[in-house]
Amino acid sequence: MRLDSLHDLFIHELRDIYSAEKQLTKALPKMAKAAHSAKLRKGFETHLRETEGQIERLETIFSDLDVSSRGPKCAAMAGLVEEGSETIKQDADPDVKDAALIAAAQRVEHYEIAVYGTLCTFAKLLGETKAGKLLYESLQEESATDEKLTALAESEINVAANVE
Ligand code: FE
Ligand code: FE
Ligand code: FE
Repeated sequence: MRLDSLHDLFIHELRDIYSAEKQLTKALPKMAKAAHSAKLRKGFETHLRETEGQIERLETIFSDLDVSSRGPKCAAMAGLVEEGSETIKQDADPDVKDAALIAAAQRVEHYEIAVYGTLCTFAKLLGETKAGKLLYESLQEESATDEKLTALAESEINVAANVE
């Protein structure tokens, strides 16, 4: 699709994050299964449910804008998920593996934060108030997830990984 306006770009970016979130609903259960720490596993499971809610928010926005959610596959998320699956397969000490899973997961959250941040800015300028509110809720969830991963890494997992 040719992009002739910020509104076109808004829809294009919405479809990109929709593709990314859809990919994550398949990747997060695998990350959860690979986690050794119960806290980390529960964190991935909680974020899987949040991801499903984020997909619903995006579907509400597509429906309100009367456009299809179909678009190109998000290549960045495909790459991040591929790195995540390499991490899952990696032969490693359990605590080191958990630290690596957090490192992979935080790459994903940062990508999502970047896209939702852009989308919130676009929604504001375009006067898309309802979409902007929904996108901001997802942005907050992604930021909170990133912060929870940092806290878990710093308080427990990296510390355990650093014990020989
Ligand atoms: Fe998400
Ligand atoms: Fe993308
Ligand atoms: Fe996320």
